[in-house]
Amino acid sequence: MNTRRDFLQKIGASALMLQLANVTSAWSNTPGDSETLYDGPVLRVAIMGLGGYATIVAKAMETCTRAKLVGLISGTPSKMKDWQAKYNIPDKNCYNYQTFDQVKNNPDIDAIYVITPNALHHDQIIRVAKAGKHAICEKPMALNAKEAQEMIDACKKANVKLLVGYRMHFEPKTLEIIRMRNAGEFGKIMFFQGLCGFRSGNPSQWRLNKQLAGGGSMMDIGIYALNGARYMIGEEPLWVTAQETKTDTVKFKEGIDETIQFQMGFPSGAVASCLSTYNMNNLDRFFLTGEKGFAELQPSTGYGPIKGRTHKGELVQPEPTHQTVQMDEMAQIILEGKKPIVPIDGEEALKDMKIIDAIYSAAKTGRKIDLKS
Ligand code: NDP
Repeated sequence: MNTRRDFLQKIGASALMLQLANVTSAWSNTPGDSETLYDGPVLRVAIMGLGGYATIVAKAMETCTRAKLVGLISGTPSKMKDWQAKYNIPDKNCYNYQTFDQVKNNPDIDAIYVITPNALHHDQIIRVAKAGKHAICEKPMALNAKEAQEMIDACKKANVKLLVGYRMHFEPKTLEIIRMRNAGEFGKIMFFQGLCGFRSGNPSQWRLNKQLAGGGSMMDIGIYALNGARYMIGEEPLWVTAQETKTDTVKFKEGIDETIQFQMGFPSGAVASCLSTYNMNNLDRFFLTGEKGFAELQPSTGYGPIKGRTHKGELVQPEPTHQTVQMDEMAQIILEGKKPIVPIDGEEALKDMKIIDAIYSAAKTGRKIDLKS
């Protein structure tokens, strides 16, 4: 059977055309497409933690071409039963948090996607690595840079890949802005603004529990502005300053940041100004400006559709389901060694964790933190 890749090779597409085609093929995910055009390797994935975001990922994976949900890890037997029925998952591919190390003896699972509260990622990813399975971890990767480094080391030692769920790294309008920046269409980049936040609801949720969340809005939503500043400017920051404000000390207890503003300076002289909050709605906006032009995304990191424009006009790239593209792309990264345009591995996430550590330190001490050391 002909694959899309065979077809492209036959027409003699250049390497660049091929990369573009691989990304666009993931955008046009329809079941019909997959059946007729794709007969290559498929990443068989088990999801750990059957909560809100896992539900979105599992649904999105139904239209994946290269990734398939084949296993479940859950602490809630009733949920497991429902998911098994919905996704046709056999008992032999189901585990709980006590038994999932046994997945090492299961040849039908290639990778485990950890979608549990932040504080659990470190130990769970290390156990996944020890079981010899590729690890996909939700953001934030860990509670701090030390944990993130230990996760990277464990995956290296076990010779498995470690990827982090940065779905925006595959979003078409985001990638178009990155292409324009690399082509010099904005000129020298001067400034980035990232505004990310929402009003946090239920006070008893794990996100407001320091033990499970590791922090507040910065860990959960501010990380999008931080990561966005890095991929929109295309450089690594040299320094960071940060200020924290709190209006509700009952809901946002010690260690749970309600609102943090942070600023970063980059080697080219570009600066970023970002806002992370659990106390304001309608905050989902990126703005990038250079000497020759600008780009704006609003919404910039929600589940989509992402909307945006540049000095050249409205961005009209396709609006695929983020998690479908993410999982198809991750399958190619794991199974075929594909290099994504913006990295999505543990090292990339470690950079965010180091800066988050510095942001918390800057907010606490009022000092400008040097990130070069
Ligand atoms: P939920 O609370 O909706 O789900 C978390 C699940 O983890 C639970 O349903 C439960 O599943 C499992 N779990 C295991 N131990 C615990 C525990 N002690 N307390 C609570 N749950 C536990 O959270 P989300 O799905 O919203 O978030 C999970 C992760 O995904 C977080 O790291 C978050 O940052 C990330 N996320 C990423 C998004 C993205 O766009 N990339 C969007 C939303 C979240 P079970 O009952 O099956 O064991």
